[in-house]
Amino acid sequence: MNDLTYVQERFINYIEKIMQSNKLSHSYLIELGDFSLEFPLVLLFVKMILCSESVNKVTDLNCNRCNSCRLIDENSFPDLQIIEAEGNQIKKSQLLSLKDEYQNKSLIGQRRVYIIKNAEKLNPSSANTILKFLEEPEEGIIAILLTSNRYQVLDTILSRCQVLSLLDDSDFGDIDDNVMTFMKYLAHPEDLFTRYKEIYDSILPDKETAKEMFFAIEKILINYLSTKSQENENSNLSFLDSVDTNILLSYITIIEEEIPKLVYNINYKLWLDCIYSRFVEVK
Ligand SMILES: [Zn+2]
Repeated sequence: MNDLTYVQERFINYIEKIMQSNKLSHSYLIELGDFSLEFPLVLLFVKMILCSESVNKVTDLNCNRCNSCRLIDENSFPDLQIIEAEGNQIKKSQLLSLKDEYQNKSLIGQRRVYIIKNAEKLNPSSANTILKFLEEPEEGIIAILLTSNRYQVLDTILSRCQVLSLLDDSDFGDIDDNVMTFMKYLAHPEDLFTRYKEIYDSILPDKETAKEMFFAIEKILINYLSTKSQENENSNLSFLDSVDTNILLSYITIIEEEIPKLVYNINYKLWLDCIYSRFVEVK
């Protein structure tokens, strides 16, 4: 675990926050730069999820105290399934057999994880199968999709996953003005209602804008939380320092749950009311 790069450290920092605050999402899409170098970090995350010792710090892993971690290392843990493309595609049949496999309750722990490598290789028919999993997640089953580029993954899948990136996205410091304006409301979400019309007219006029905006906010919140305990160079986000980590993690969950609904033909204003109310409720 020596010589971690900044993004790798950021990743670990974030997964530890997720575990410590018990805010595990049911589906993650993780962007990897160098697969062989970074897959071990993904496995650390998986171990934290599955370890029977309720570990929430990476340095406490590999305790050699529990079977789960050992079996994961030996690649023979039944509650971790890894799906890889056969040839150039991930086939529907592979996902159906995963579904069969996970049909029965786990005999070992409460959680099960499946990893899909090269999620961009899901073809439309296999994507449909996986979407059913992602839309109706079964308690305790956690999906981890891997890709080298989130934009090559089908939009319907992307919108249902929390995206964590191990790529060096140096665009962090440059946040769109509208996004920044909206983010400031997250420190005082009740103002979302008092300034409703103004926000609607100027920064969130339609579904498409909203989708992009909330995607961007999710990513910024994740980055912010991942770097929070380190030297904070994100002084443009200092207004978030007064907001509790748990609340910010709840915001991420809310955004994750609400964005997919925008894909359906729902009333956009009702959708806004709903997401605003949820922000207010957690605060
Ligand atoms: Zn363990």
